Amino acid sequence: MCGVFGAFSKDGNSVLEDVYLGLYALQHRGQETAGIAWTDILGDKNVHAMRGSGLVHTALDQKALSSNTAHVAIGHVRYSTAGGSDFSNAQPIIANYARGSVAIAHNGNITNATAIRNFLENRGAIFQSTGDTETILHLMAHQSHKPPLDALVGSLRLLRGAYSLAVLLGNRLIAARDPWGFRPLIIGRRGEVTYVASESCALDIVGAEIIRDVKPGEILVIDEKGMKSLKIPVTPRRKHLCAFEYVYFARPDSLIDGRSVYSVRKALGCNLAKNCPCGKADMATGMPDSGTISAIGYASESGLPYEKAIVRNRYVGRTFIEPTQRVRDLGVRIKLNPIGKMIDGKRVVVVDDSIVRGTTVQRVISMIRDSGASEVHVRIASPPVRFPCYYGIDTPTCEELAAARMDTEALCREIGADSLAYISVEDMTEAIGLPAPDLCTACFTGEYLQGGDDYEMDL
Ligand code: AMP
Repeated sequence: MCGVFGAFSKDGNSVLEDVYLGLYALQHRGQETAGIAWTDILGDKNVHAMRGSGLVHTALDQKALSSNTAHVAIGHVRYSTAGGSDFSNAQPIIANYARGSVAIAHNGNITNATAIRNFLENRGAIFQSTGDTETILHLMAHQSHKPPLDALVGSLRLLRGAYSLAVLLGNRLIAARDPWGFRPLIIGRRGEVTYVASESCALDIVGAEIIRDVKPGEILVIDEKGMKSLKIPVTPRRKHLCAFEYVYFARPDSLIDGRSVYSVRKALGCNLAKNCPCGKADMATGMPDSGTISAIGYASESGLPYEKAIVRNRYVGRTFIEPTQRVRDLGVRIKLNPIGKMIDGKRVVVVDDSIVRGTTVQRVISMIRDSGASEVHVRIASPPVRFPCYYGIDTPTCEELAAARMDTEALCREIGADSLAYISVEDMTEAIGLPAPDLCTACFTGEYLQGGDDYEMDL
């Protein structure tokens, strides 16, 4: 998963610090690399970039950035889901090609990238990275007979899968969202500055107000004349807005496609309590931080007291970011600690957002039992994750997904719970509040985007 941010200032003020702050607010979407690209219209008009490994504050030199001025810039935080984790895949990717300068920051996975890459390599293209985003640059370069914006539209038309983009085209800022709308993308404004961001929490940090979400299939061109909307010439059968953004990925203080992530998570907890009650419990608690809000919803609906009975060491990153199983196992112990006094002798309901490999919940149950709990009941605020995501979330293969390997009863035994229950797809959809056909639930249902891979490439 990744986060993108971009800013265009009409009055010529530098936006580099805004982009830095925007990325800071999107840090949860990727911790592997961070980067900013900008064009210096007062200087040589070429595109420049600063990229580095790790968190925003270590990857980017805030002081060095402030010694530059740019009225248009984009940024990216990366967690690798396509192309592996080597530094050549750090974004934004940049190029100064025959028709000018381009920089691209991408969130999502292009599912037909390999087919496009093979097609272009047969025509002599030499790729520098293993990522899918570079295909967009090469598709543009192969249409250098067209003006850059037309070449970009002509390239996006050929892509399948997920892309929410912030693009620098010369000194214009472009926001584009794939026709299915997999990943979020939102526009904001503060005075003369227009912003594009993966999530609205990044608009809050720069003091911008929300204008609106970028529509699925829309390209917004932002320049000194204002904002112009174009359409990607692809007609999707239906939308595929990612349900997992609401369940886990996005920050709770964000609004996505008009829905508050916080309210959705609370409603998930309420629906879970209605349909998966736990009669004989003394308290409900949430797995910090991923299950906390749903646990509040669960507790209020079921009338159980909510206790913050598990404490998180807030200086440890999210455990799923760690690459090896050993480090992952250790991570849970380092990260979470139950409060023994609160739990001792109690029948506890533990609410979490999802079970992926099952490692976290198993470790936590054993810690809660060690703290003296008499019963541990697990309630999950998303349906079983049984299928990998091909659209930008790093889910493991089916063999590693706990709910794909065994049914709920067997998993309950494996994790050592007294009971285990999940919200249904219908109750999750109802809590999200968007029409069912607009949502991508592929990781729960296996209903992937249909068709579109075998078409003629005409450049
Ligand atoms: P585990 O079941 O041990 O793999 O950890 C699952 C926990 O990690 C969930 O409760 C989520 O909070 C978080 N998580 C969410 N998405 C993912 C993902 N794609 N891969 C791994 N962990 C995730």
